[in-house]
Amino acid sequence: MKYEFPVTRTTNPKEKPDPNNLPFGKYFTDHMFLMEYDEGQGWHDGRVVPYAPIVLDPAALVLHYGQEMFEGLKAYKNVKNGRVQLFRPDMNAKRTNRTNDRLCIPPMDEELYVAAVKAIVKEDADWIPEVKDTSLYIRPYIIATEPYLGIRNSKKFLFVIILSPSGPYYPNGLQPTKLYVEDTYVRAVKGGTGEAKCGGNYASGLKAQVIAHEKGFEQILWLDGREQKYVEEVGTSNAFFVIGDEIITAPLGGSILPGITRDSCIQVLRKKGYNMVERPLSIDEIEEAYDKGEFKEMFASGTAAIISPVGLLRYKDKDMVINGGNIGPIAQLLYDTIYGTQIGKIEDEFGWVDPVE
Ligand SMILES: *Cc1c(COP(=O)(O)O)cnc(C)c1O
Repeated sequence: MKYEFPVTRTTNPKEKPDPNNLPFGKYFTDHMFLMEYDEGQGWHDGRVVPYAPIVLDPAALVLHYGQEMFEGLKAYKNVKNGRVQLFRPDMNAKRTNRTNDRLCIPPMDEELYVAAVKAIVKEDADWIPEVKDTSLYIRPYIIATEPYLGIRNSKKFLFVIILSPSGPYYPNGLQPTKLYVEDTYVRAVKGGTGEAKCGGNYASGLKAQVIAHEKGFEQILWLDGREQKYVEEVGTSNAFFVIGDEIITAPLGGSILPGITRDSCIQVLRKKGYNMVERPLSIDEIEEAYDKGEFKEMFASGTAAIISPVGLLRYKDKDMVINGGNIGPIAQLLYDTIYGTQIGKIEDEFGWVDPVE
């Protein structure tokens, strides 16, 4: 092994939550992974330690100017052989370096990144829940730690990985959600940080999310930041539309987060022979298709929920009920294929599964 990390075990293991009643992202395991970066030295001292608060200087740059990035992936136990496995972790390593580049955070060797994820997952593998639709959610992130109040990129960073045994992202699982088309606030513009996975994007999206919740909607459908015309993303996931015989998702053009689930959906659908296209899709085209009875399905894709079907879309005063408010066949097919591959229930046709040992 190219990378090995020292392990300090907890002397005070926690009680594990009930796997049959797991919320998303609320419980954390016994250990975490830490690694520092110092200018001139690079990333150093990767280690597994007991889960505990991290101490930061109150002047740490991240607390003032938000130089931060994060990732999300999951670990599963293979239902056939019990092996612990990850889903496409190399893609998270690559995306980390693209995000880092945008935010002036130093890059990390992709092998080091994946080795760190495997080290912490291996240590807390007994926390992986095995009930249907559960998994161990993995949250790697990087923060700027140098104490300094001038505005410039930090010379010191901390890389952290924490783990959270989690149930379905939406408490109702594959139950279709209600979405609201946001036409006041925007999430991202070309040239901004929309294609980077950073906390700042989420902070600026909260306001619209709160308003949507107050109106009784689970999520927002974001339109492009320039014309507020083209559909971009659903809350914090990528969006797919089935119109006529086409399956459409927005092209990656600077303001869209390149989701790994998005990429997996595209590959699965193309392999199965569907007419899967990446092209700009306007909200007017969606409305028109709805009126003609051609808007058949809509769903969101992301690591946390995998696939989340949409049952209702409101644009201004118009409610569009999609597929009678039920999950559609394409969403179901993608969920079954991707989740089935992740847990080893079906054959890994694409070579996406990466065992931890
Ligand atoms: C993480 C994220 C996604 C989904 O990416 P996955 O790699 O599929 O989890 C989509 N949109 C935004 C804004 C995100 O942050």
